Amino acid sequence: MWSTAREIAAGDLVIIWLTRDLVQPLIITPGKDFNSKFGHYRHADLVGIPYGSKVASRTGKGFIHVLRPTPELWTMALPHRTQILYLADIAFITSHLNIKRGSRVIEAGTGSGSFSHSVARTVGSIGHLWSYEFHEVRASKAREEFARHGMNDIVTLTHRNVCKDGFTVTDAVDAVFLDLPAPWEAVEHAKVALRKDRTTRICCFSPCMEQVMRTVNALNDAGFTEITMYETLLRPIDVSHVPVLQPVGEISEKLKQAERKREDKRLKQIAAGRQSTSKRKREDEGTPVKDQTIMEEAAEEAAGGSKRIKTDDEDGAPLDAVPTPAMDLDPHEESDAALPTTVASPPAPSPSPIAPKKISVSKVMPEVRGHTSYLTFASLQPFEPPAEPAPSAAAAMLAP
Ligand code: SAM
Repeated sequence: MWSTAREIAAGDLVIIWLTRDLVQPLIITPGKDFNSKFGHYRHADLVGIPYGSKVASRTGKGFIHVLRPTPELWTMALPHRTQILYLADIAFITSHLNIKRGSRVIEAGTGSGSFSHSVARTVGSIGHLWSYEFHEVRASKAREEFARHGMNDIVTLTHRNVCKDGFTVTDAVDAVFLDLPAPWEAVEHAKVALRKDRTTRICCFSPCMEQVMRTVNALNDAGFTEITMYETLLRPIDVSHVPVLQPVGEISEKLKQAERKREDKRLKQIAAGRQSTSKRKREDEGTPVKDQTIMEEAAEEAAGGSKRIKTDDEDGAPLDAVPTPAMDLDPHEESDAALPTTVASPPAPSPSPIAPKKISVSKVMPEVRGHTSYLTFASLQPFEPPAEPAPSAAAAMLAP
Protein backbone atom coordinates (compact mmCIF):
# COMPACT_ATOMS: atom_id res chain seq x y z
CA MET A 1 0.00 0.00 0.00
CA TRP A 2 2.79 2.44 0.91
CA SER A 3 6.47 2.74 0.04
CA THR A 4 8.44 -0.33 1.03
CA ALA A 5 11.81 1.29 0.35
CA ARG A 6 14.23 1.58 3.24
CA GLU A 7 14.80 5.29 2.74
CA ILE A 8 12.32 8.15 2.49
CA ALA A 9 11.92 9.64 -1.00
CA ALA A 10 10.40 12.90 -2.24
CA GLY A 11 6.63 12.45 -2.64
CA ASP A 12 6.37 9.72 0.04
CA LEU A 13 3.68 9.89 2.67
CA VAL A 14 5.33 9.66 6.10
CA ILE A 15 3.91 9.74 9.60
CA ILE A 16 5.44 12.33 11.91
CA TRP A 17 5.35 11.12 15.51
CA LEU A 18 5.63 14.13 17.82
CA THR A 19 4.05 12.68 20.97
CA ARG A 20 1.70 9.80 21.67
CA ASP A 21 -1.22 12.21 21.25
CA LEU A 22 0.26 14.17 18.36
CA VAL A 23 0.82 12.11 15.24
CA GLN A 24 0.37 13.57 11.79
CA PRO A 25 0.76 12.65 8.12
CA LEU A 26 3.15 14.52 5.85
CA ILE A 27 3.85 14.27 2.13
CA ILE A 28 7.55 14.90 1.62
CA THR A 29 7.80 17.91 -0.65
CA PRO A 30 11.36 19.29 -0.96
CA GLY A 31 11.24 23.09 -0.73
CA LYS A 32 8.60 22.98 2.02
CA ASP A 33 9.14 23.20 5.78
CA PHE A 34 7.50 21.39 8.66
CA ASN A 35 7.08 23.51 11.77
CA SER A 36 5.71 22.47 15.13
CA LYS A 37 6.23 23.26 18.79
CA PHE A 38 8.87 20.53 18.64
CA GLY A 39 11.00 22.44 16.18
CA HIS A 40 11.64 23.38 12.62
CA TYR A 41 12.42 20.85 9.86
CA ARG A 42 13.04 21.00 6.12
CA HIS A 43 11.34 18.32 4.04
CA ALA A 44 14.49 18.13 1.92
CA ASP A 45 16.47 17.06 5.01
CA LEU A 46 14.19 14.04 5.39
CA VAL A 47 14.83 12.72 1.87
CA GLY A 48 17.25 9.78 1.90
CA ILE A 49 17.11 9.04 5.62
CA PRO A 50 15.80 5.60 6.71
CA TYR A 51 12.16 5.26 7.76
CA GLY A 52 11.92 5.22 11.55
CA SER A 53 14.66 7.85 12.01
CA LYS A 54 14.70 10.23 14.92
CA VAL A 55 15.44 13.68 13.53
CA ALA A 56 16.66 16.65 15.56
CA SER A 57 15.18 20.04 14.73
CA ARG A 58 17.29 22.62 12.91
CA THR A 59 17.34 24.78 16.03
CA GLY A 60 18.63 21.86 18.11
CA LYS A 61 15.58 22.05 20.36
CA GLY A 62 13.18 19.16 19.97
CA PHE A 63 13.01 16.14 17.69
CA ILE A 64 10.54 14.07 15.69
CA HIS A 65 10.31 10.46 14.55
CA VAL A 66 9.61 9.95 10.86
CA LEU A 67 7.72 6.68 10.42
CA ARG A 68 6.53 4.51 7.57
CA PRO A 69 2.72 4.61 7.40
CA THR A 70 0.71 1.58 8.51
CA PRO A 71 -3.08 1.34 8.83
CA GLU A 72 -2.63 1.66 12.61
CA LEU A 73 -0.60 4.87 12.28
CA TRP A 74 -2.96 6.17 9.60
CA THR A 75 -5.88 5.73 12.02
CA MET A 76 -3.96 7.83 14.57
CA ALA A 77 -2.96 10.50 12.07
CA LEU A 78 -5.71 10.78 9.44
CA PRO A 79 -7.68 13.97 8.82
CA HIS A 80 -11.09 13.43 10.46
CA ARG A 81 -14.09 14.07 8.23
CA THR A 82 -16.36 11.94 10.43
CA GLN A 83 -16.17 9.91 13.60
CA ILE A 84 -13.85 7.01 12.90
CA LEU A 85 -13.22 3.47 14.02
CA TYR A 86 -10.23 2.96 16.31
CA LEU A 87 -7.91 0.01 16.58
CA ALA A 88 -9.64 -1.94 19.36
CA ASP A 89 -12.90 -2.05 17.40
CA ILE A 90 -11.18 -2.56 14.04
CA ALA A 91 -9.26 -5.57 15.35
CA PHE A 92 -12.34 -7.08 16.99
CA ILE A 93 -14.54 -6.59 13.93
CA THR A 94 -11.91 -7.97 11.54
CA SER A 95 -11.48 -11.05 13.67
CA HIS A 96 -15.20 -11.68 14.30
CA LEU A 97 -16.09 -11.16 10.65
CA ASN A 98 -13.33 -13.67 9.85
CA ILE A 99 -11.80 -11.19 7.39
CA LYS A 100 -8.49 -12.52 6.13
CA ARG A 101 -6.22 -12.44 3.09
CA GLY A 102 -8.35 -12.98 0.01
CA SER A 103 -11.67 -12.04 1.68
CA ARG A 104 -14.28 -10.05 -0.24
CA VAL A 105 -15.82 -7.43 2.01
CA ILE A 106 -18.40 -4.60 1.92
CA GLU A 107 -18.27 -1.55 4.20
CA ALA A 108 -20.74 1.33 4.45
CA GLY A 109 -20.14 4.20 5.00
CA THR A 110 -16.59 4.93 4.12
CA GLY A 111 -16.42 8.02 6.36
CA SER A 112 -12.78 8.99 6.91
CA GLY A 113 -11.47 5.65 5.65
CA SER A 114 -10.00 4.46 8.93
CA PHE A 115 -11.57 0.98 8.75
CA SER A 116 -11.00 0.81 4.97
CA HIS A 117 -7.20 1.03 5.29
CA SER A 118 -7.00 -1.84 7.76
CA VAL A 119 -9.34 -4.06 5.76
CA ALA A 120 -7.48 -3.29 2.52
CA ARG A 121 -4.23 -4.43 4.10
CA THR A 122 -5.84 -7.58 5.54
CA VAL A 123 -7.57 -8.76 2.34
CA GLY A 124 -4.54 -7.83 0.20
CA SER A 125 -4.37 -7.89 -3.57
CA ILE A 126 -6.23 -11.23 -3.84
CA GLY A 127 -9.25 -9.93 -1.91
CA HIS A 128 -11.47 -6.89 -2.41
CA LEU A 129 -13.25 -4.17 -0.46
CA TRP A 130 -16.40 -2.49 -1.78
CA SER A 131 -16.83 0.76 0.15
CA TYR A 132 -19.97 2.97 -0.06
CA GLU A 133 -20.42 6.59 0.98
CA PHE A 134 -23.45 8.81 0.27
CA HIS A 135 -21.76 12.12 1.18
CA GLU A 136 -20.24 13.31 -2.08
CA VAL A 137 -17.35 15.35 -0.67
CA ARG A 138 -16.37 12.56 1.73
CA ALA A 139 -16.57 10.04 -1.07
CA SER A 140 -14.25 12.02 -3.34
CA LYS A 141 -11.76 12.79 -0.53
CA ALA A 142 -11.60 9.11 0.38
CA ARG A 143 -11.21 8.19 -3.30
CA GLU A 144 -8.24 10.57 -3.59
CA GLU A 145 -6.61 9.09 -0.48
CA PHE A 146 -7.13 5.50 -1.62
CA ALA A 147 -5.50 6.37 -4.96
CA ARG A 148 -2.58 8.18 -3.30
CA HIS A 149 -2.05 5.22 -0.96
CA GLY A 150 -1.97 2.73 -3.83
CA MET A 151 -5.24 1.02 -2.86
CA ASN A 152 -7.09 1.35 -6.17
CA ASP A 153 -6.73 -2.31 -7.08
CA ILE A 154 -8.06 -3.42 -3.72
CA VAL A 155 -10.85 -0.91 -2.97
CA THR A 156 -13.83 0.12 -5.10
CA LEU A 157 -15.49 3.21 -3.67
CA THR A 158 -19.04 4.00 -4.77
CA HIS A 159 -20.95 7.18 -4.05
CA ARG A 160 -24.39 5.83 -3.14
CA ASN A 161 -27.11 5.68 -0.51
CA VAL A 162 -27.00 2.00 0.40
CA CYS A 163 -30.17 2.10 2.50
CA LYS A 164 -32.14 3.24 -0.52
CA ASP A 165 -30.27 1.75 -3.46
CA GLY A 166 -28.51 -1.28 -1.99
CA PHE A 167 -25.05 -2.49 -2.97
CA THR A 168 -23.49 -2.96 -6.40
CA VAL A 169 -22.67 -6.68 -6.05
CA THR A 170 -24.84 -9.77 -5.62
CA ASP A 171 -23.94 -13.13 -4.03
CA ALA A 172 -20.33 -11.96 -3.89
CA VAL A 173 -18.97 -11.08 -0.47
CA ASP A 174 -17.86 -12.98 2.63
CA ALA A 175 -18.61 -10.18 5.09
CA VAL A 176 -20.51 -6.90 5.42
CA PHE A 177 -19.72 -4.14 7.88
CA LEU A 178 -22.31 -1.39 8.39
CA ASP A 179 -21.25 1.83 10.15
CA LEU A 180 -24.42 3.80 9.36
CA PRO A 181 -26.97 5.72 11.41
CA ALA A 182 -29.72 3.29 10.35
CA PRO A 183 -28.07 -0.07 9.60
CA TRP A 184 -31.39 -1.95 9.83
CA GLU A 185 -32.40 -0.26 6.58
CA ALA A 186 -29.46 -1.89 4.79
CA VAL A 187 -29.77 -5.42 6.24
CA GLU A 188 -31.91 -6.85 3.40
CA HIS A 189 -29.54 -5.32 0.83
CA ALA A 190 -26.59 -6.87 2.68
CA LYS A 191 -28.29 -10.25 2.45
CA VAL A 192 -28.46 -9.88 -1.33
CA ALA A 193 -24.74 -9.00 -1.53
CA LEU A 194 -23.54 -11.87 0.69
CA ARG A 195 -22.54 -15.10 -1.05
CA LYS A 196 -24.88 -18.04 -0.51
CA ASP A 197 -22.49 -20.96 -0.97
CA ARG A 198 -21.00 -20.72 2.53
CA THR A 199 -21.64 -19.17 5.94
CA THR A 200 -21.10 -15.42 5.82
CA ARG A 201 -21.03 -12.71 8.51
CA ILE A 202 -22.37 -9.23 9.10
CA CYS A 203 -21.49 -6.60 11.74
CA CYS A 204 -23.44 -3.44 12.55
CA PHE A 205 -21.80 -0.67 14.57
CA SER A 206 -24.32 1.40 16.56
CA PRO A 207 -23.73 3.79 19.43
CA CYS A 208 -26.99 3.25 21.31
CA MET A 209 -29.13 0.37 22.45
CA GLU A 210 -32.28 1.48 20.60
CA GLN A 211 -30.39 1.17 17.33
CA VAL A 212 -29.08 -2.23 18.38
CA MET A 213 -32.66 -3.43 19.06
CA ARG A 214 -33.87 -2.31 15.65
CA THR A 215 -30.86 -3.94 13.97
CA VAL A 216 -31.41 -7.22 15.85
CA ASN A 217 -35.07 -7.25 14.72
CA ALA A 218 -34.06 -6.63 11.12
CA LEU A 219 -31.41 -9.36 11.27
CA ASN A 220 -33.95 -11.83 12.70
CA ASP A 221 -36.51 -10.93 10.05
CA ALA A 222 -33.93 -11.40 7.29
CA GLY A 223 -33.06 -14.90 8.56
CA PHE A 224 -29.64 -14.18 10.08
CA THR A 225 -28.62 -16.45 12.98
CA GLU A 226 -26.12 -16.39 15.88
CA ILE A 227 -26.98 -12.75 16.59
CA THR A 228 -24.60 -11.52 19.29
CA MET A 229 -23.79 -8.06 20.56
CA TYR A 230 -20.38 -7.01 21.97
CA GLU A 231 -18.84 -3.84 23.27
CA THR A 232 -15.10 -3.25 23.27
CA LEU A 233 -13.91 -1.21 26.24
CA LEU A 234 -10.40 -0.06 26.95
CA ARG A 235 -9.11 -0.20 30.49
CA PRO A 236 -5.82 1.69 30.76
CA ILE A 237 -3.16 0.21 33.02
CA ASP A 238 -0.38 2.46 34.25
CA VAL A 239 2.90 0.51 34.55
CA SER A 240 5.88 1.95 36.43
CA HIS A 241 9.05 0.85 38.21
CA VAL A 242 9.21 1.62 41.91
CA PRO A 243 11.92 0.96 44.50
CA VAL A 244 11.01 -1.59 47.16
CA LEU A 245 12.15 -1.10 50.73
CA GLN A 246 12.88 -4.44 52.36
CA PRO A 247 11.87 -4.95 55.99
CA VAL A 248 14.81 -4.76 58.46
CA GLY A 249 14.23 -8.37 59.61
CA GLU A 250 14.65 -9.68 56.11
CA ILE A 251 17.78 -7.66 55.47
CA SER A 252 19.31 -8.94 58.70
CA GLU A 253 18.38 -12.54 57.81
CA LYS A 254 20.00 -12.13 54.41
CA LEU A 255 23.14 -10.71 55.99
CA LYS A 256 23.33 -13.70 58.35
CA GLN A 257 22.94 -16.09 55.48
CA ALA A 258 25.66 -14.36 53.51
CA GLU A 259 27.93 -14.55 56.55
CA ARG A 260 27.22 -18.30 56.91
CA LYS A 261 27.96 -18.82 53.27
CA ARG A 262 31.31 -17.05 53.56
CA GLU A 263 32.19 -19.07 56.66
CA ASP A 264 31.27 -22.30 54.93
CA LYS A 265 33.50 -21.45 51.99
CA ARG A 266 36.37 -20.76 54.39
CA LEU A 267 35.85 -24.14 56.10
CA LYS A 268 35.83 -25.93 52.81
CA GLN A 269 39.06 -24.27 51.80
CA ILE A 270 40.71 -25.28 55.11
CA ALA A 271 39.37 -28.82 54.78
CA ALA A 272 40.63 -29.10 51.24
CA GLY A 273 44.15 -28.02 52.35
CA ARG A 274 44.16 -30.43 55.29
CA GLN A 275 42.71 -33.21 53.26
CA SER A 276 45.49 -33.15 50.72
CA THR A 277 48.21 -33.13 53.45
CA SER A 278 46.51 -35.78 55.59
CA LYS A 279 45.60 -37.96 52.64
CA ARG A 280 49.12 -37.93 51.39
CA LYS A 281 50.40 -38.78 54.92
CA ARG A 282 48.00 -41.73 55.39
CA GLU A 283 48.58 -42.96 51.87
CA ASP A 284 52.27 -42.92 52.70
CA GLU A 285 51.45 -45.01 55.81
CA GLY A 286 49.21 -47.37 53.79
CA THR A 287 45.98 -46.45 55.75
CA PRO A 288 42.64 -46.17 53.77
CA VAL A 289 41.48 -42.56 53.58
CA LYS A 290 37.89 -41.40 54.24
CA ASP A 291 37.37 -37.92 52.79
CA GLN A 292 34.23 -37.28 54.82
CA THR A 293 36.01 -37.86 58.13
CA ILE A 294 38.77 -35.50 57.17
CA MET A 295 36.25 -32.84 56.15
CA GLU A 296 34.43 -33.14 59.45
CA GLU A 297 37.62 -33.02 61.47
CA ALA A 298 38.76 -29.93 59.65
CA ALA A 299 35.43 -28.24 60.03
CA GLU A 300 35.28 -28.94 63.74
CA GLU A 301 38.78 -27.68 64.18
CA ALA A 302 38.12 -24.47 62.23
CA ALA A 303 34.81 -23.87 64.00
CA GLY A 304 36.44 -24.21 67.39
CA GLY A 305 35.07 -27.70 68.03
CA SER A 306 31.46 -26.83 67.31
CA LYS A 307 29.12 -28.69 64.92
CA ARG A 308 29.45 -28.01 61.25
CA ILE A 309 27.38 -25.17 59.81
CA LYS A 310 24.65 -26.16 57.40
CA THR A 311 25.40 -24.87 53.91
CA ASP A 312 23.30 -24.15 50.90
CA ASP A 313 24.78 -27.31 49.32
CA GLU A 314 23.03 -29.43 51.91
CA ASP A 315 19.49 -28.27 51.45
CA GLY A 316 19.92 -28.00 47.70
CA ALA A 317 19.00 -24.33 47.35
CA PRO A 318 21.49 -21.51 46.97
CA LEU A 319 21.20 -19.01 49.79
CA ASP A 320 20.67 -16.19 47.32
CA ALA A 321 17.30 -17.65 46.39
CA VAL A 322 15.65 -16.47 49.60
CA PRO A 323 12.25 -14.98 48.74
CA THR A 324 12.16 -11.20 48.83
CA PRO A 325 9.08 -9.12 49.56
CA ALA A 326 8.79 -8.40 45.85
CA MET A 327 8.76 -12.08 45.00
CA ASP A 328 6.09 -12.77 47.58
CA LEU A 329 3.57 -10.44 45.94
CA ASP A 330 0.82 -12.03 43.91
CA PRO A 331 1.33 -10.86 40.32
CA HIS A 332 -2.41 -10.90 39.65
CA GLU A 333 -3.52 -9.09 42.76
CA GLU A 334 -5.19 -5.69 42.47
CA SER A 335 -5.37 -3.27 45.36
CA ASP A 336 -6.45 0.33 45.96
CA ALA A 337 -6.27 2.57 42.92
CA ALA A 338 -4.10 5.04 44.86
CA LEU A 339 -1.36 2.47 45.47
CA PRO A 340 0.86 0.57 43.10
CA THR A 341 -1.14 -2.57 42.66
CA THR A 342 0.12 -5.36 40.49
CA VAL A 343 3.57 -6.85 40.20
CA ALA A 344 4.11 -7.32 36.50
CA SER A 345 7.32 -9.31 36.76
CA PRO A 346 9.35 -10.54 39.72
CA PRO A 347 12.80 -8.99 39.85
CA ALA A 348 15.93 -11.07 39.41
CA PRO A 349 17.67 -11.76 42.75
CA SER A 350 19.90 -8.80 43.52
CA PRO A 351 23.67 -9.32 43.50
CA SER A 352 24.06 -7.86 46.98
CA PRO A 353 21.70 -8.61 49.87
CA ILE A 354 21.11 -4.94 50.56
CA ALA A 355 21.04 -3.62 46.99
CA PRO A 356 17.97 -1.44 46.44
CA LYS A 357 15.35 -3.28 44.42
CA LYS A 358 12.96 -2.00 41.77
CA ILE A 359 9.83 -3.84 40.79
CA SER A 360 7.36 -3.30 37.97
CA VAL A 361 3.94 -2.39 39.27
CA SER A 362 0.75 -1.67 37.41
CA LYS A 363 -2.12 0.49 38.51
CA VAL A 364 -5.50 -0.26 36.99
CA MET A 365 -7.27 2.99 36.22
CA PRO A 366 -10.60 3.07 38.01
CA GLU A 367 -12.62 4.33 35.07
CA VAL A 368 -13.16 2.26 31.94
CA ARG A 369 -12.82 4.40 28.84
CA GLY A 370 -13.42 3.72 25.22
CA HIS A 371 -17.14 3.22 24.59
CA THR A 372 -17.61 3.96 20.96
CA SER A 373 -20.42 1.68 19.91
CA TYR A 374 -22.08 -1.68 20.28
CA LEU A 375 -21.07 -4.29 17.75
CA THR A 376 -23.87 -6.58 16.62
CA PHE A 377 -22.69 -9.64 14.72
CA ALA A 378 -24.75 -12.26 12.90
CA SER A 379 -24.28 -15.14 10.47
CA LEU A 380 -26.08 -16.05 7.28
CA GLN A 381 -26.09 -19.78 6.65
CA PRO A 382 -25.54 -21.16 3.12
CA PHE A 383 -28.66 -21.21 1.02
CA GLU A 384 -29.87 -24.72 0.21
CA PRO A 385 -32.47 -24.88 -2.58
CA PRO A 386 -35.52 -26.93 -1.52
CA ALA A 387 -35.26 -30.57 -2.60
CA GLU A 388 -37.32 -31.61 -5.67
CA PRO A 389 -40.54 -33.30 -4.40
CA ALA A 390 -40.49 -37.07 -5.10
CA PRO A 391 -42.93 -38.00 -7.94
CA SER A 392 -46.15 -39.59 -6.66
CA ALA A 393 -46.92 -43.25 -7.56
CA ALA A 394 -49.68 -42.16 -10.03
CA ALA A 395 -47.41 -39.63 -11.70
CA ALA A 396 -44.71 -42.28 -11.97
CA MET A 397 -47.17 -44.71 -13.71
CA LEU A 398 -48.28 -42.03 -16.15
CA ALA A 399 -44.74 -41.10 -17.02
CA PRO A 400 -43.73 -42.21 -20.55
N1 SAM B 1 -16.16 3.59 9.46
C1 SAM B 1 -15.69 4.88 9.04
C2 SAM B 1 -14.27 5.09 9.45
O1 SAM B 1 -13.71 4.23 10.17
O2 SAM B 1 -13.66 6.08 9.08
C3 SAM B 1 -16.56 5.98 9.61
C4 SAM B 1 -17.97 5.94 9.09
S1 SAM B 1 -18.89 7.38 9.51
C5 SAM B 1 -19.21 7.17 11.17
C6 SAM B 1 -20.45 7.05 8.78
C7 SAM B 1 -20.47 7.41 7.31
O3 SAM B 1 -21.61 6.82 6.74
C8 SAM B 1 -20.60 8.89 7.10
O4 SAM B 1 -19.53 9.34 6.30
C9 SAM B 1 -21.92 9.05 6.35
O5 SAM B 1 -21.88 10.04 5.36
C10 SAM B 1 -22.11 7.67 5.74
N2 SAM B 1 -23.51 7.29 5.51
C11 SAM B 1 -24.57 7.49 6.33
N3 SAM B 1 -25.68 6.95 5.79
C12 SAM B 1 -25.32 6.38 4.62
C13 SAM B 1 -26.02 5.68 3.60
N4 SAM B 1 -27.33 5.46 3.70
N5 SAM B 1 -25.34 5.23 2.52
C14 SAM B 1 -24.00 5.45 2.42
N6 SAM B 1 -23.28 6.13 3.34
C15 SAM B 1 -23.93 6.59 4.43
